Amino acid sequence: MRATLIYGAGDVRVEDVPDPVLREPTDALVRVLRSCICGSDLWPYGSRPTSEHGDRIGHEFLGVVEDVGADVSGLKKGDVVVAPFVWADNTCDFCREGLQTSCRHGGFWAANGVDGGQGEAVRVPQAQGTLVKLPVGEDSALLPSLLSLSDVFPTGHHCAVTAGVGPRTTVTVIGDGAVGLCAVLAAKRLGAEQIILMGRHQVRTDLGRDFGATDVVAERGDEGIAKVLELTGGDGAHAVLECVGLRPAIETAFAVARAGGRVSRVGAPQYPEVPLGFGEFLRNVTLTGGVAPARAYIEELLPDVLDGKVEPGRVFDTTIGLDEVPAGYQAMAERKALKVLIRPV
Ligand SMILES: [Zn+2]
Repeated sequence: MRATLIYGAGDVRVEDVPDPVLREPTDALVRVLRSCICGSDLWPYGSRPTSEHGDRIGHEFLGVVEDVGADVSGLKKGDVVVAPFVWADNTCDFCREGLQTSCRHGGFWAANGVDGGQGEAVRVPQAQGTLVKLPVGEDSALLPSLLSLSDVFPTGHHCAVTAGVGPRTTVTVIGDGAVGLCAVLAAKRLGAEQIILMGRHQVRTDLGRDFGATDVVAERGDEGIAKVLELTGGDGAHAVLECVGLRPAIETAFAVARAGGRVSRVGAPQYPEVPLGFGEFLRNVTLTGGVAPARAYIEELLPDVLDGKVEPGRVFDTTIGLDEVPAGYQAMAERKALKVLIRPV
């Protein structure tokens, strides 16, 4: 089969790899219907050291079950399923606490001999716990929004939930990438009345307004902070959703948090330290968030996607075939594409 491998910064290739086979009785084989490129794939794409052999890449996919191991129940050949971006047994103590990203028997895609999602097929470990069956056909128009359940929509939701978003909370979302826009959608879904989106790409912030943003702040740094404070009566927001992962974003996040407020970060942090000093101490600002346990939220978010109440799949603005994946990475890295959807066949 064909799959995507990364060889170094700016060097992504689609090559022939061995077809996946069942190795463990808990495995399933899934033929990929849709996959996509993640903002977090751009970090290795920007900085990975060059190597002779490529590594598989991709962690968001949706597909059709082709075969299951002897210990997998509840799934059969022909089922359409979505995979969260971390695989997990969904039964251990961490999983039962809703933290499938810390599963005692789980792990990441495209690591330690596990397939990546940007290919024609995937061997899914712990399939019964990992995969969620979708009540749709292979040609459903909902596939893009259903694919967003793999990562960006639950990640935005996790950011909103950990920040304590609910009715009557003011929210500031930092970042107009796919996760930031999904955080807006999640905050709206949770009942937030005022949602300020900080972003400067108008096509994206326009989609953010469609998703529920009440205000858009295009300015950055001190100017952006002043704008958010002005929009919140000088106090800042109860919930600040940091969806970027860079130091200026987390600095802005603390500066626009209201006293007693919460900053949640779900952008993979590209900074070693967090600026939590005496000022934040005096204002009782909490830092929360982290890698999103997408698996914990899929069943909760799925009905609204199936009903069309939310359309997180609108973050995909480009669709490509597998052979065009290198160009897809380039388009996302150059910010010409918001999020790239891959149709392997
Ligand atoms: Zn577990």
